[in-house]
Amino acid sequence: MSDDWDLSYNHGTHEGEDVRCPCPDCGRDTYHTVLTNVVQLGSSESRSMQFWDDYQVVECKGCKRCSFRKVYADSESVDLSRGEADETIEHYPQRINNRRAIPDAHLIPAEVLPIYEETLAALRSNLPILAGIGVRAIVEAVCKHVSATGRTLESRIDDLVPKGFLTSDGARVLHATRLMGNVAAHEMLAHTNDDLIKGIEIAEHLLRTVYVIPAIADGLSRRSST
Ligand SMILES: [Zn+2]
Repeated sequence: MSDDWDLSYNHGTHEGEDVRCPCPDCGRDTYHTVLTNVVQLGSSESRSMQFWDDYQVVECKGCKRCSFRKVYADSESVDLSRGEADETIEHYPQRINNRRAIPDAHLIPAEVLPIYEETLAALRSNLPILAGIGVRAIVEAVCKHVSATGRTLESRIDDLVPKGFLTSDGARVLHATRLMGNVAAHEMLAHTNDDLIKGIEIAEHLLRTVYVIPAIADGLSRRSST
């Protein structure tokens, strides 16, 4: 490995510096302080390629949650015009589809809430097959709860529209994602990230409309009648 390796490129961040990255608790990008940074340098067997790994413990400046960040780059990915390398960054816990549960999720009934929570966990863990099954299970549970009629889930989703729980656009999106087709249940397809995000957003809209908003409204009307 060349001695001037770590001087050649403006790589990585150092202890005490701030980096912007997704926070597992805040559910969005925030500034994090690098508390610890361990750098490991290495080279390929032929020494033609050099690489480095930065292993970092980072702390969110908002909620103070600590997590782990790994930055990898190698000499093949250096952009000489910038003097910087393209970095591959991983986080642990994983931040893929880092969604938080909707506000007042505790108002969702006990038979539906665990399905919702496990679906979010599957999304966060990048398990697209299980996440797809979870989104479908949430919609099925809501359809059952509001006695949506229809022989197939597709037609029961359509029945949510006249019942006022879903807009026709929402129903169209659910159908378009193919999450709700029989194919999903029987062939266990790994859905695209885009489909999963659209699906969970509509499932969350349903949970809000069917469980959360009525419970809040009941609470308010009870308070105003006392
Ligand atoms: Zn945070």
